[in-house]
Amino acid sequence: MTTTSHRSPVPGTVYLVGAGPGDPGLLTRHGAAALARADVVVYDRLADDSMLALAPGDAELIYVGKQAAVHAAPQGSINELLSDHAARGRCVVRLKGGDPFVFGRGGEEATHLRERGIPFVVVPGVSSAVAAPAYAGIPVTDRRYASSFAVITGHEDPTRPSARLDWHAIAHGADTLVFLMGLTNLSTICERLVDEGRPATTPAAVIERGTTPGQRVVTGTLADLAARVATARLHPPSLIVVGDVVRLGDRLGWHETQLLAGRRIVVPRVRRRPSEIVRLLKAAGAEIVEVPVLRSETLPTPGDLLERLHAADWLVFTSPGALEALLEQLADVGLDARALGRARLAAVGPASAAQLRRCGLRVDYAPQAASDFAGGFPVRPGASALLVGEQGGDPHVRRGLEAVGADCLELAVDRLTIDERVPLPPIEQFDGVALASSNAVRRLLEVYPAGPLEHQTVVSIGPLTSATAMSLGVHVDAQADTASPASVTTCFVERLGRS
Ligand code: SAH
Repeated sequence: MTTTSHRSPVPGTVYLVGAGPGDPGLLTRHGAAALARADVVVYDRLADDSMLALAPGDAELIYVGKQAAVHAAPQGSINELLSDHAARGRCVVRLKGGDPFVFGRGGEEATHLRERGIPFVVVPGVSSAVAAPAYAGIPVTDRRYASSFAVITGHEDPTRPSARLDWHAIAHGADTLVFLMGLTNLSTICERLVDEGRPATTPAAVIERGTTPGQRVVTGTLADLAARVATARLHPPSLIVVGDVVRLGDRLGWHETQLLAGRRIVVPRVRRRPSEIVRLLKAAGAEIVEVPVLRSETLPTPGDLLERLHAADWLVFTSPGALEALLEQLADVGLDARALGRARLAAVGPASAAQLRRCGLRVDYAPQAASDFAGGFPVRPGASALLVGEQGGDPHVRRGLEAVGADCLELAVDRLTIDERVPLPPIEQFDGVALASSNAVRRLLEVYPAGPLEHQTVVSIGPLTSATAMSLGVHVDAQADTASPASVTTCFVERLGRS
């Protein structure tokens, strides 16, 4: 409730943000930026909770969606929550599925805020109404079949006399009809459209969990769709598409036909940034859960930072986030990239090298694969290398460089911590586990200590990782041929892919 004592002279802004339909990649950049500066996030049930990790570590996350059988928070109390936090000067993000103004009650929230003089910004989202059909290969308009589409609530039971919808107008008003929230009324919706004159042979489909790796599509006609959906036992969130465009789905469907569609793979996360393995597995259609969610904190600037930088012949960036953290440390003491001095620059792994280049720095040494790093290092014996990276990072690089005669010192610029706020899915939900390093094996056991992995296909990137896994009691089903992310992906496709 509002407490006047907490009111701030300047209210914070409320961002009404559309989270998109499910695929986290469909969150807009504007939405991600709003999350990154939130003090409070008020969110509904989302298809993918990992989005919440975009909020700062100390942001308050408040869930107001439905809990299993329990109802969602009433709209009035959500409105109060938004205005109370904003009145205290906080930046509030109200995160909703799809678009906030498409059956999202965003209009009611905006009205409440306007009445109280609280500034708000609406960040549109990708609505499931167009995105789920798109992922099912159904264009909502197409010059050959449909020149209009309508988005309609399917929540109203069409047999109820109090229904506000004009079914005759709906049946004839647009070529393609998309019903949201209509799964329970599916059979009456189809019957009503036929009663109002749409041919019973009109193609129609239900899309369940559209844009997610669990997407399922059931296609039929207005006459038989309800029976087909009942057999397939589809659940919410699902939407209904009616019209000739549905026919195109047979030819243009792409999401569900990807090699690893419907497979869930856990990738233990050891780095600040998502790995290349994650990108490739996602591109093959798998659902990837990176656990745990990590956040990186830049460490305080050491007093002798400049001396350490200037004493080094080489600055070796051992992680993709290292440069950003180092620049933050420099900025803290009023300096910038010019303070890097005359040292030569090396990057471990292509992602770290890309990061340096993005900041306008030339990379003097960066082999394609991180595993080849020390072997080809152009070092003069006794040259000094300052390893810039994460606290407690992989000791592998240092050992390798010392073996080829470099004199190594370390500069820890950031620290990774586990974000405890994001819930961990049970291990039984996964079909596979990707182990990209020995550290990943340790991380896996940290988050799933008891987890027997009998039912999961475990793929390791190479012999070292396999050996660590086996020594710690984790069985390995397959080992990549060439210690590369592509090779790990191939192992999964061979074992879990559709034939
Ligand atoms: N604002 C949201 C819609 C909210 S109403 C948007 O723009 O998408 C909730 C309804 O949206 C659900 O009942 C379902 O019909 C539909 N929906 C949301 N996400 C969906 C998804 N991933 N796949 C299919 N339907 C979805």
